[in-house]
Amino acid sequence: MTQSRLKTVIVTGASSGIGAATARAFSGAGYRVMAAGRNAQRLHAAVAELENVRTWSGDLCDAQACADLVSETIGAFGGVDVLVNNAGVIHRARAEDTTDHQWRETMAVNLDAVFYLSRAVVPALRNQGGGAIVNIASDWGLQGGERAAAYCASKGAVVLFSKAMALDHAAENIRINAICPGDVNTPMLAAEAHQRGLDVTETIAACAADSPNGRLTEPEEVADLAVFLASDQARAINGVALPIDGGASA
Ligand code: NAD
Repeated sequence: MTQSRLKTVIVTGASSGIGAATARAFSGAGYRVMAAGRNAQRLHAAVAELENVRTWSGDLCDAQACADLVSETIGAFGGVDVLVNNAGVIHRARAEDTTDHQWRETMAVNLDAVFYLSRAVVPALRNQGGGAIVNIASDWGLQGGERAAAYCASKGAVVLFSKAMALDHAAENIRINAICPGDVNTPMLAAEAHQRGLDVTETIAACAADSPNGRLTEPEEVADLAVFLASDQARAINGVALPIDGGASA
């Protein structure tokens, strides 16, 4: 990688939860950050305090938009070293209760965008002599979960997409890893409770109690792991799907 300039990261879904924490963590680690999301206003609010940050708003379900995000990042910062595919949606439903729209949206955000952005960024990483992609998958990419058929399908695909890409690009010094969080303290967890008609406070407390360490994972803890996996300290780690779940998957 180029030594003469600060490293650059693209973080998707950077307006809330794990994505916002990840933008903060990379900024704190000295990276230039391209914070990407759908809603320009929410995005600006989330990253306003950070140094060396630019924002990009658009629909990541569109292949051309993803290609534009990568080229605009290179135009703004002179290169790109790391891509964190974090944006995601969940519809809590069994297969028979999942609408076509919910299935397509889940696949479009959780999987298609990961593919479009990864495809667009690889030539830039290769040209610079290497880089890293970190995909925020899920513990439900490793095992099934109830009433989350489309989500589990999308996250399972992200895990194997990461492993396949890791093999294809290992010799080019491009590493691709997946992070598989358990229950993380973000708006998504509350949204899931709403979707299931459950009390948010009670549901979140039950999720925390279910974890061996008795608490939810915080978005900052996932963000720190993403920074580590992107760093040279993780230079021998490639193609893993790493749980961060307080021991739940043990
Ligand atoms: P969140 O709802 O706070 O954030 C999701 C982000 O994705 C938002 O910023 C949203 O605007 C963005 N997004 C959704 N659709 C988009 C689109 N079409 N284009 C651009 N951005 C879009 O939830 P979170 O918990 O921070 O989720 C981040 C990632 O972590 C997701 O991929 C999620 O599946 C994964 N995850 C979350 C948990 C959890 O318990 N919260 C557990 C495992 C995995």
